Amino acid sequence: MGTLYVVATPIGNLEDITLRALRILFTVSYIACEDTRRTGMLLAECKKRYKCTGSPTLISYYDQVEQSKTPEILELLNDFDVALVSDAGTPLISDPGYVLVREARKRNISVIAIPGPNAAITALSVSGLAVSSFMFFGYPPEKQSTRLTHFKQVYQCINTLVHKPTVIYYCAPHNLNVVLTDMKEVFGDIQVTIARELTKIHEEVWSGTIDDAKEKFVEPKGEFVLLF
Ligand code: SAM
Repeated sequence: MGTLYVVATPIGNLEDITLRALRILFTVSYIACEDTRRTGMLLAECKKRYKCTGSPTLISYYDQVEQSKTPEILELLNDFDVALVSDAGTPLISDPGYVLVREARKRNISVIAIPGPNAAITALSVSGLAVSSFMFFGYPPEKQSTRLTHFKQVYQCINTLVHKPTVIYYCAPHNLNVVLTDMKEVFGDIQVTIARELTKIHEEVWSGTIDDAKEKFVEPKGEFVLLF
């Protein structure tokens, strides 16, 4: 029986790939990846920079095919080791992989984490916000009415807690302004921290009120983590 390795990859800076991730990615027979082109480029760059050798077969495994492709990968795991990666960061965290890990564990297939970068934890670690407890919700809902309901529920939930946790969201650039507007409606003009393009050239960790954030990020570009 093979092993399923859940392998974290860089969220920007390629130097953040771990030695263990390199070893696993170049010794497994198959890599299930969100985007074969993107993972192909990552492997090619690792071969060049770190002199890795090995040519695993890449299998496309993205959100829309998670259910349908899982049996094929479970079948491969009968005889081979398989690595699971996403485009960036830790698989499963707002990324595909949950169905595969759940089903593998149900079948007593060994599932091993190869830990590494994650945007939420990276942002939290440099935010200056309380870290003893935090709540991570991935992306806020796309639909505005659902998003407002979600924020209201979070607000109520936090109010019941004696020790207030830090709240973390992922946010796509095209949504940043509407998300901030809805947050203000529910939470008021609170202080937020916005971590942008972490580990990349234009990395920035900014703190201010929601109104200030809307002024600063008028045309948001890049990848964002939103914390308060
Ligand atoms: N699995 C990934 C992880 O472990 O962080 C997250 C994948 S999710 C599809 C992508 C979102 O993560 C982006 O929209 C952004 O909110 C956040 N993100 C990813 N890379 C980032 C970076 N370098 N800087 C800031 N946020 C980032």
